[in-house]
Amino acid sequence: MINKKLFEMDENICTHLGEDSKKYFGAVTPPIVQTTLFSYPSLEEFIPALSRERENYVYTRGVNPTVEVLEKKLAALECGEKCKCFASGMAAISSTLFTLLKAGNHILFLNNIYGPVLSYCNFIKKYGVEHDVLFSSDIDEIEKHIKPNTRLIYLESPSTTKMEILDLEKIAILAKRKGIITAIDNTWSTPLFQKPLTFGIDISIHSCTKYIGGHSDVVGGAVIGSHKLVDEIFEYGHQFNGGALSPFDAWLAIRGLRTLPIRMKQHQESAIKVIDFLKKHPKIEKINHPYVLEGEAKELAEKQMRGYSSLFSIELVTKDFEDIKIFVNSLSVFQIGVSWGGFESLVNASNNGMNKASLESQNISPSTVRLYIGLENAELLIEDINNALSKN
Ligand SMILES: *Cc1c(COP(=O)(O)O)cnc(C)c1O
Repeated sequence: MINKKLFEMDENICTHLGEDSKKYFGAVTPPIVQTTLFSYPSLEEFIPALSRERENYVYTRGVNPTVEVLEKKLAALECGEKCKCFASGMAAISSTLFTLLKAGNHILFLNNIYGPVLSYCNFIKKYGVEHDVLFSSDIDEIEKHIKPNTRLIYLESPSTTKMEILDLEKIAILAKRKGIITAIDNTWSTPLFQKPLTFGIDISIHSCTKYIGGHSDVVGGAVIGSHKLVDEIFEYGHQFNGGALSPFDAWLAIRGLRTLPIRMKQHQESAIKVIDFLKKHPKIEKINHPYVLEGEAKELAEKQMRGYSSLFSIELVTKDFEDIKIFVNSLSVFQIGVSWGGFESLVNASNNGMNKASLESQNISPSTVRLYIGLENAELLIEDINNALSKN
């Protein structure tokens, strides 16, 4: 599944690209350039720099050398021309939408989308930006839902909670034909396991808080795409909203990236072991992860992905909230919590005992439990799940 040659190139990007230790005394890690501003020897040099802040070190809300190292690596990993980093994944997403949309525009969301993004879009309805969410991978169905004012197709593949996949290439072709920009939240796959820009998607977005940071100690985000689009997002969404990534947080994400390739191999291996166990368990009705796909869907996954990460959901046979509670509370290695992508395994139930109708409207079964496979021993995690399933 993993294309070995490309993976090795990615390893080199994660470990070395964008760094020049000669500039900083041979230090093998880049300095945290903890400064707010950069001074200039003369007004003649300062004036042009200030007028092109995107290309010069002027002020850390714009461009900072430590943040820039991370941006170079992420652009290269995604095969994009340019990357801009943000203070969080949500800052990256909201700044992108803020930049690209205006009153009267429509966004078509495909698949289950990270919840706060839809909440944001409900909020910006007051600015005259409309949206629809379509749960279908059928290209004709997608085309039918495009409106004359659709400016952006925004998708997740694999999607939040359900891990459903979409044909990126077909969607990109359709969108280009209609003059619509495409954006994907690629957080689940990381830039190692899926490179959406190579399939024609215009913008790839990450929450660096997840696998890229990798140690549950940094919040960050990134947008990767063409010079033109990323420059526009920098100029407006980034500069006006001010969601700049701090140099220290960028440095943590750079440190996270160095081990991303080996971590992702391990996450994939452990997730597959856990899924193989769950597949045979009588109390599990369904597993939502690309690894269990069959037929055409599997072919598509293998075509556009180089690996599978370790966040997925299971649907229990029982639909009773009390049983779900017993299962989740009985886990002892998996900790209950939001987020994912760090070292620690996590569990989170979609059902809160009061939201059955809302879950059904989002195409989510009330028996859904989300599991995140961290870096603990896979056998230990299987034992933990097996034990918890015996309790309800
Ligand atoms: C966490 C997450 C985000 C938001 O990222 P933050 O860094 O928490 O703002 C966006 N998309 C997906 C798929 C996520 O999991």
